[in-house]
Amino acid sequence: MTLHGHKIGFGLPPILRSATADLLTRHGPLLLDWVTCYGSPLNLVWPDALQKNLAALKGVLTERRVGHAVYYGVKVNKSLGLMRAALSAGAGLDVSSLCELRDARRLGAEGVRLVATGPAKTSAFHKELIDCSALISVDSPEELEDLIDGLPADAGPQPILLRLRPRDQSKSRFGMPGDAVVHCLARLTAENRLRFDGLHFHLSGYRWETRVAALSEAADLITKARRMGFSPRMIDIGGGLPIQYVDQVKYRAHLAAQAPEDYRTGKIPDSFYPYGGTLSPADWLHRLLEAEMSQGQSVAGYLAREGLTLAMEPGRALTDQAAITVFRISRVKALGPDSHVIFVEGSSFSACETWFASEFLVDPILVPVTRPAAQSPPIRAYLAGHSCLDEDVISNRWLTFPIAPQAGDLLVYANTGGYQMDLLENEFHRHPMPARLCVIDDAEGRATLVPDTIGEV
Ligand SMILES: *Cc1c(COP(=O)(O)O)cnc(C)c1O
Repeated sequence: MTLHGHKIGFGLPPILRSATADLLTRHGPLLLDWVTCYGSPLNLVWPDALQKNLAALKGVLTERRVGHAVYYGVKVNKSLGLMRAALSAGAGLDVSSLCELRDARRLGAEGVRLVATGPAKTSAFHKELIDCSALISVDSPEELEDLIDGLPADAGPQPILLRLRPRDQSKSRFGMPGDAVVHCLARLTAENRLRFDGLHFHLSGYRWETRVAALSEAADLITKARRMGFSPRMIDIGGGLPIQYVDQVKYRAHLAAQAPEDYRTGKIPDSFYPYGGTLSPADWLHRLLEAEMSQGQSVAGYLAREGLTLAMEPGRALTDQAAITVFRISRVKALGPDSHVIFVEGSSFSACETWFASEFLVDPILVPVTRPAAQSPPIRAYLAGHSCLDEDVISNRWLTFPIAPQAGDLLVYANTGGYQMDLLENEFHRHPMPARLCVIDDAEGRATLVPDTIGEV
């Protein structure tokens, strides 16, 4: 099917959980009230969705009898409501800055619930982590020396992990190769103020297979460490569990059919997040635990035999379906007989994949506020932010709208909780930062907003 020579029918509607679908289809006026009150774009967060995601992962771990420690990777979304939801559901937090650490502490997190896996920690950050005995993943021999230099003489045993850079990640600047891990272990034999708790890695990409390979490398180092007299208790596999934004069949069809002219740039981006992957985070974890590590032994079997806890720091996977971003359309402008640009109000740094030379391959949902006088013809358009930068574009992809959007209507991007919300936000053009609020059900079961702050949810 074509529209002025442009194919439609390869759309990418987001997968929506029922609470979100209900809000968008049945409560448009409520959404409009909220945007009127708090501005555009408006970030809405559902802390209960994070708890549901966590329960799904814990279900897999418990079923396979794997001792575990799950930490929410706070950098994916700094929402205090999400951090609190993770803590109250029994998870820990992976903090990567002094501010994240302080937020976590103000939310009541004890040091045992905290890990710091980030690569470049300041000495002030080290100090506050040590003050509360949070677990520290040491990224390099250099960091280990800094940490030792900063330890008080009477420090109790401070727990640490050593971050491995697996062999197939040799170009990565994160972690250290196996021989450097062994070098650090030798250094630790003489340092009883630090306690070696185990190994950590975090890989780019979303394949469980690469984690199995890294686990095998870590296993060899665990054996070496035991021979050296250490008692490691955990292997930490980091994050990178993939989530599903759109239906996998539609996604494959879209990728197969897309062409350079589908983009206003005339170019298909080189890479995309796997928006329509085949595995949910729970499926992914199940595959990982069942995978063969060595001599017919599964990952789950290895961990049990060695008495090791499986730690992980999912970010995106815990924010699946936990947030949406609502933009208000400020103008729909014709660029030619067959093309339009839709300007949205406020910073366009949400849903920000275009800034990484990629594209958020999920269609926004139009919530019409004004009824079109007559049935309007479909239009195609790309989406731009309010600023004067030519690159300030939310979607370079030509989007097809069966009903022409109008100024004042809302465009909603679903599932923006994972990195699409506060990664690039700023006050460009002095436009205020987007508001972020938590959505909870009131006593009558109606969606209600509460501030995303320390005390109030
Ligand atoms: C970003 C990050 C994570 C979380 O990654 P996701 O892909 O969001 O799950 C976990 N660990 C480390 C070290 C990270 O840098």
